[in-house]
Amino acid sequence: MEEIRDLWETSWITNMGAKHAELEKNLKDFLGVPSVSLMSNGHMALELCLAAMHLEGEVITTPFTFASTTHAIARNNLTPVFCDIRPDDFTMDASKIEDLITDRTCAILPVHVYGNVCDVDAIDKIAKLYGLKVIYDAAHAFGVKVGDRGIGSYGDASIFSFHATKVFHTVEGGAVCYSSPELGQKLYELKNFGIMDETTVTGIGANAKMSEFHAAMGLVNLRYHDANVKRRQAICSTYTEHLRGIPGLRIPEDEKVPLTQRNYAYYPVVIEKTLFGTDRDEVAKRLAAENIFVRKYFYPLTSDYQCYRDLLPHSDTPVADHIAASVITLPLSPSMEIEDAVRICDLIKTFRR
Ligand SMILES: *Cc1c(COP(=O)(O)O)cnc(C)c1O
Repeated sequence: MEEIRDLWETSWITNMGAKHAELEKNLKDFLGVPSVSLMSNGHMALELCLAAMHLEGEVITTPFTFASTTHAIARNNLTPVFCDIRPDDFTMDASKIEDLITDRTCAILPVHVYGNVCDVDAIDKIAKLYGLKVIYDAAHAFGVKVGDRGIGSYGDASIFSFHATKVFHTVEGGAVCYSSPELGQKLYELKNFGIMDETTVTGIGANAKMSEFHAAMGLVNLRYHDANVKRRQAICSTYTEHLRGIPGLRIPEDEKVPLTQRNYAYYPVVIEKTLFGTDRDEVAKRLAAENIFVRKYFYPLTSDYQCYRDLLPHSDTPVADHIAASVITLPLSPSMEIEDAVRICDLIKTFRR
């Protein structure tokens, strides 16, 4: 309430006002990135970022993601080409990228899924070798750092989502992080109708501005972010403590990249039916019967959506197929009690056959 008080006094409630400027600056510092362009949501951040790069042809991406990633490619008249994922952290398997490169490939669009850091060095090397753009979907990775380096500083650009369901949010919102001033100029044009001043319209832009109310929500939430992440970490530790060593359950491993500041956005559990005895769908159903609602993130793969299945050649992604069929993400929020997490683990253990 305090944060929005001045909005009523100035009546400047949208169109890049003071809150917008303050949030862009605070996020730039907090995320450790060269520049931030706020957007109305994460999807428009991604869609306009691809548009700003004037890409044509094929984009190598992952099918193990939210609908938005693949839709942003297709809605730019680009063709998604699906690369398989790693079995350990579910990010794009960089060793499989080169086989998918053709003379039409223009970019790579990996996802830091669940906040897990992609193999950024390998991806960067391939992109340089073949002259490809790299755009990271960092929607899950707010605040993640590798050493001192913000996750949003990798590649040609990274996008974040500030949707209400994400670790940090502005109710609805998102951002592109970038370093090239030309790209920044293009993004501004695209998010504000191409209007540069009162009489100059330079490009065929859309409207993807973040309002002052949304920016104010972000300014407030940023103050609680560190405390929220600590709380998430405590819930995740509880899950790990109680689910470790159960045959047939695969839980998040300790960090493969050392010194990584994590954000504990999701707690994925892979249920191997042959060892656990009960399959993923049955586990989800039996938890729901106790009013515990897990998510099948990410099932189905975006490559299996009706709108892509018939349009694109069948993609060969056996690891992604298997993980999509056997993964659940457990309830996780800063407002959860530790005892809730313990109760969920105790229940899951009783499902083993
Ligand atoms: C949430 C999400 C998006 C889209 O963000 P919105 O803010 O909901 O538009 C894009 N990619 C991934 C991986 C997401 O989880």
